[in-house]
Amino acid sequence: MKPLTDSEIRAAFLNCTKGEAKRMYVPRDLAEQPWEELDLLGWRDPQAPDRAHLVAEIGGRPTGVVLRCPSGPSWSARRSICSLCITTHTGGVSLMVAPRAGLAGRQGNSVGAYICSDLACSLYVRGRRDLGPGTRMPESLTLEERIDRLAANTAAFVAKVAA
Ligand SMILES: [Zn+2]
Repeated sequence: MKPLTDSEIRAAFLNCTKGEAKRMYVPRDLAEQPWEELDLLGWRDPQAPDRAHLVAEIGGRPTGVVLRCPSGPSWSARRSICSLCITTHTGGVSLMVAPRAGLAGRQGNSVGAYICSDLACSLYVRGRRDLGPGTRMPESLTLEERIDRLAANTAAFVAKVAA
């Protein structure tokens, strides 16, 4: 994805208020992010373990989603699959819940998805981050196809939040 600045990221969120976007934690090492290898930029708030954020380029525009992880990161020994990058982890996948954009969100509607706890989906897909114990599920897809699938799954998730 195209490198983003702090202000571009804060302006991209579709399911929080402008005030929340202004106050939210955004990583300070944006210049050091491996942008060319990212399909989405995801991070957790170090001060608030139940908060996570995800920004992806959707239809050519940076689009951000605020997520809540009600149970915090899951480090259970259970194997689970990230619904975005389809990586199987032993632990390391959290149920994340995004308030829907606009009125629906203010009425308490949300969209949930199991997502890698560290939101490093782009790096897992490319084999750039170690999965830890356990094995990668054998897949017949090429790297290109896995990257396309991650982008499609991310776009579908963001569309559900925006709808
Ligand atoms: Zn993932």
